[in-house]
Amino acid sequence: MQHVKLARDRRKRKSRIKAAVFLLAILSIFIGIVLSVKDNAKTDPLAVSSDEVQYKPLNGTQASQPSNKFKDVQTDTASPQKPNTDEATSYDDDLQGKDDEVEQVNLDEKDEFADLPEDAKNAVKDLLDAVDQAIRIKDQFSYTVVKGDTLKDVLEQSGLEDETSKTLIAAYPELKNLKAGQQFYWILDKDGELAYLNWLVSEKEERIYERTAEGKFKRQILQKKSVWKKEVLKGQIKGSFSSSLKAQGLNSKQIAQLGSALQWQISMKKLKQGDKFAALVSREYLDNRLTGQGNVEAIHISSGGKSYYAIQSSNGRYYNRQGETLGKGFARYPMQRQARVSSPFNPARRHPVTGRIRPHNGVDFSMAIGTPIIAPADGIVEKVAYQANGAGRYIMIRHGREYQTVYMHLSRSLVRAGQSVKRGERIALSGNTGRSTGPHLHYEFHINGRPVNPLTVKLPGTSSQMSTAERKQFLIKAKEAESKLKI
Ligand SMILES: [Zn+2]
Repeated sequence: MQHVKLARDRRKRKSRIKAAVFLLAILSIFIGIVLSVKDNAKTDPLAVSSDEVQYKPLNGTQASQPSNKFKDVQTDTASPQKPNTDEATSYDDDLQGKDDEVEQVNLDEKDEFADLPEDAKNAVKDLLDAVDQAIRIKDQFSYTVVKGDTLKDVLEQSGLEDETSKTLIAAYPELKNLKAGQQFYWILDKDGELAYLNWLVSEKEERIYERTAEGKFKRQILQKKSVWKKEVLKGQIKGSFSSSLKAQGLNSKQIAQLGSALQWQISMKKLKQGDKFAALVSREYLDNRLTGQGNVEAIHISSGGKSYYAIQSSNGRYYNRQGETLGKGFARYPMQRQARVSSPFNPARRHPVTGRIRPHNGVDFSMAIGTPIIAPADGIVEKVAYQANGAGRYIMIRHGREYQTVYMHLSRSLVRAGQSVKRGERIALSGNTGRSTGPHLHYEFHINGRPVNPLTVKLPGTSSQMSTAERKQFLIKAKEAESKLKI
């Protein structure tokens, strides 16, 4: 019996050892995975963790502390660095990430309106809110076509990729030829895909494209028996500008159109209670009822003894009475010299280690640390912040109401939150801060809060010069508008 017991004990011991070995094996595999993930993140000799970047003594001196907002985070511009700039990029450029430092202004409340009395401030804010709502709420968008626009330019207002317009045009080639002044209204579904597109082709025709369950689009053509009337709406700012406009029968789509037209105009900031406005609109009626379709052809605002005009040209854009544009436009690149793209804009980019989709919301330009970064357009610095485990030192600038640009991995910011910048002004020096595999600038361009490809986006305010014939026609229209919009 004894040997039976012994044999049983041996077996027990054996199985315990087996279990232990098994557990050890599992544990070591697990540790292996963890280490390999970590290693992978560091296999690139340049993938320095940001903490090392911040505190490593450089050129014999201690790098400045990150709390010193406007000093270099990294000051090793002199030390020779031979990065493999081909791959200078980052997979953690996520604006949702945690800021370790932040200096931010709320532009709706900040200095733009600082000299206004409280009630006027509220009026302006209400208008801007109404514009935002009309643009953003429930993912509904509207847009008036300007000369030269393609369907891609229209849908890009909502951050949609070129793919959608290609699919639509392949099925319905008529969408290839857009005309200035036509209007689009569209809705995105909860996945951010185009669900519904309404195209006001002319006063007599409307086309609707709806996504079907199979992901294709079905079309509906509506011939309209409606009547369009040109009307002058006059009002005074009481309470808020938006409610004053609404009281005159303008709907949120048309208020949005106006907001977009007026966004570059200084006069918007100077509105006061009691200021008067007159708008020339053309609106659609069916059986004597407004259908909601309409176009604002011109607006005149009288404020502080001065008159401000925004008049729509036949090219769809708005100009002042002299035919000058309201915005100075955007430069394509935020630097003086063109730089090589080390990683393109790519909403479907995969993380090389995890394999998960990590959208690349900007474009990476490889450049030496310390390269001057310039503002591509006039704007106000909205944010200067620092993310050790992501964007590094970064800046966000707002241009008008609809546009924002973002600059990441900077070595140094040359601006402060709340500061106004002019096109061409130096705003920062490029760097390699945060999670970055080499010196580069990560540049983002947002329309209505959605990132779009900075290299292909239709830049606002460019090609807005009118041809001689257009201009002649415009000046006649402006005279007419002026006489109709007397206040
Ligand atoms: Zn990037």
